[in-house]
Amino acid sequence: MSSATDTMSTPHLRVSAEKSQQDLPNGETLGRAPPPKSSIEDKFFWTYTEEPHRSRRQAIIKAHPEVTKLCGPEPLTKYVVLGVVSLQITCAYLLRNNSMLSWPFLVTAYLIGATANQNLFLAIHEISHNLAFRSPMANRLLAIFANLPIGIPYSAAFRPYHLTHHKSIGVTGLDTDLPTALEALFLDSLLGKAFFCTFQILFYALRPMFIYSPPFTPIHLLNLVVQLSFDYALVRLTGSYQPLFYLITSSFLAGSLHPCAGHFIAEHYFFSNVKKGGTESIRDLKTSNGKKNPIPNLPPPETYSYYGPLNILTYNVGLHNEHHDFPAVPWTKLPTLHRIASEFYETLPCHRSWTWVIWTFITDSDAGMWCRVKRSEGGRVVGGGTKTSGRGGEGISAASVKPEEEGEDGWKESEIQN
Ligand SMILES: [Zn+2]
Ligand SMILES: [Zn+2]
Repeated sequence: MSSATDTMSTPHLRVSAEKSQQDLPNGETLGRAPPPKSSIEDKFFWTYTEEPHRSRRQAIIKAHPEVTKLCGPEPLTKYVVLGVVSLQITCAYLLRNNSMLSWPFLVTAYLIGATANQNLFLAIHEISHNLAFRSPMANRLLAIFANLPIGIPYSAAFRPYHLTHHKSIGVTGLDTDLPTALEALFLDSLLGKAFFCTFQILFYALRPMFIYSPPFTPIHLLNLVVQLSFDYALVRLTGSYQPLFYLITSSFLAGSLHPCAGHFIAEHYFFSNVKKGGTESIRDLKTSNGKKNPIPNLPPPETYSYYGPLNILTYNVGLHNEHHDFPAVPWTKLPTLHRIASEFYETLPCHRSWTWVIWTFITDSDAGMWCRVKRSEGGRVVGGGTKTSGRGGEGISAASVKPEEEGEDGWKESEIQN
């Protein structure tokens, strides 16, 4: 079992099993499990250890019980959402007479549109954790509103998959943030990784459908009807398709080669093996001039935080270890959590630039799609769902999928783990 102390150290492991075995004097790799049987040569880091967030959360609560007071809705979120939705609708309207290939259209879509829509993706993320209002229904409705400038209905579908990502981090067949072995195999090259980074948004949108299907609820229907009505009204009222194209282009660029899109990769791909450093912990930077702590036989970290300026535009999603440890702490209080529990966070490897993350992910042959920690057991589906898997060569047995209806009565202390 991985303790909080293990995960706080700076692990630097090789990606492939063969390499790791050679690196260790006794031939053992801490926390490493053999990959499940598959026709594909599997280079993920398979582990049988427990995910690190639960044990760190318990250790932090024990050391700093006051952190539980940080949990609960943040009233500011709804105003930020209102501002960004208004900004995007205004830009879309102003561009109604510009062709898609004109400079004003493309520059606005990249600089303002993509940043605003990435901000809305992350508003929907925040709201999915019931962190804008106490009432779950008010959160669902705000998410549908935040979805409007994204152009495609997404908020209702995102939530069960995302909550399952929290409950089942690294669990193959449940955590849809994980690439499948087929993706990793086909995209295991510089060009493949560049393709993945350019079209990331499509991978995130389409991959879950191949893994399992949560039930279609009235909220999904409402999300669909509201979004299609909004898109129709936008085209009719402006007399042009350009505003709708602007919104959809903004969504595409938000998940493409854009600095803010670096968070998708920074969160859970491990960078332990990259040739040039860049993920040293805050403490390593303070104490040893950025030298890596060469502990070879710890499992790679499965979550990295990013402590750079783009957190201002992205609801502090960069504080991802903090978020997974305490998903009921809203974005405005994550820096306080980090400060209170700094001895837990400042020893973890972290990122300082999302642009560096994208560049290194593509160009360094020791970073890539295989750099993920996976488990073949544990976790559970949140919000119900039917497993359709087997595709991607990584199906897990139906017996290990335990659907769980999520409590809908707002945040309580017992829900800190959601
Ligand atoms: Zn995550
Ligand atoms: Zn989350």
